[in-house]
Amino acid sequence: MAHGSKIEWTDHTFNPWTGCTKVSPGCDHCYAEAWAKRSGLVQWGNHPRKRTTSDYWKSPRIWNRNSEHFEAVHGHRQRVFCASLADVFDNKVDSNWRSDLFELIESTPRLDWLLLTKRPSNIEEMLPSNWGDGYSNVWLGLTAEDQTAFDQRWNHLANIPAVTRFVSYEPAIGRLSINGVKLLPDWLIVGGESGARARRARPDWVRSIISECQRLGVKPFMKQWGTYSSNPLVSELGFSEDEARAIDGYGKGGSMVDGQIVREFPKTTLLTNHAAEVA
Ligand code: SF4
Repeated sequence: MAHGSKIEWTDHTFNPWTGCTKVSPGCDHCYAEAWAKRSGLVQWGNHPRKRTTSDYWKSPRIWNRNSEHFEAVHGHRQRVFCASLADVFDNKVDSNWRSDLFELIESTPRLDWLLLTKRPSNIEEMLPSNWGDGYSNVWLGLTAEDQTAFDQRWNHLANIPAVTRFVSYEPAIGRLSINGVKLLPDWLIVGGESGARARRARPDWVRSIISECQRLGVKPFMKQWGTYSSNPLVSELGFSEDEARAIDGYGKGGSMVDGQIVREFPKTTLLTNHAAEVA
């Protein structure tokens, strides 16, 4: 639930509260629910959300204070993924908690906050009154696990002012195209599902969305295949999973696409020396 995230596209995770309700097929194997069952800290579904502790809420202010050092070492602003064990725009959350979160976001301007939701239709009414053209340190994103989810969700986000908009195509459980939308996202994360019951991401879906992003000027970030059985080194080229792991050890199930690591980030207005990074 804490800092120093292992998620490849962020530097920290922050969960202002925990608990959520499943809203779409992408939630079927929700890792946060699995965490909740293991930890026993929160009941999933239509149960009260649990706010995290006031000590934990101090962490972003500490990261913000350390930003000069972080940026000197890493060459980019700190990214904070919010939330990995909840949804910021969940309508079962006390609105005062969300107000507190936006106050925290405003008071930590050296952090880039990546708010990722599966409920973009709630964003507009849940933003703070001073949102204006979007807080300069907030990236708004939605999860779209397939075309149906993207088509239902994207317009809600596209119509909201934001300095950066992104799509997390994870878990990729069906084909996705973003061609033809009026406003494109700035960034698109691709990830196959992991875990024992993972639904396989197909290499042609991944190749297709990455080449579409490159053609349309959207920065792609291939996070993982999810399992080595989905990795084309195994599924197409016939390597064993151990051989594939030795060649491609990036992320769960590897992440190379035809021999390349594709991990770019969008530029934002606040990023100075942050040209597209390749991990
Ligand atoms: S929206 Fe996210 S956290 Fe909530 S149930 Fe679905 S996958 Fe889990």
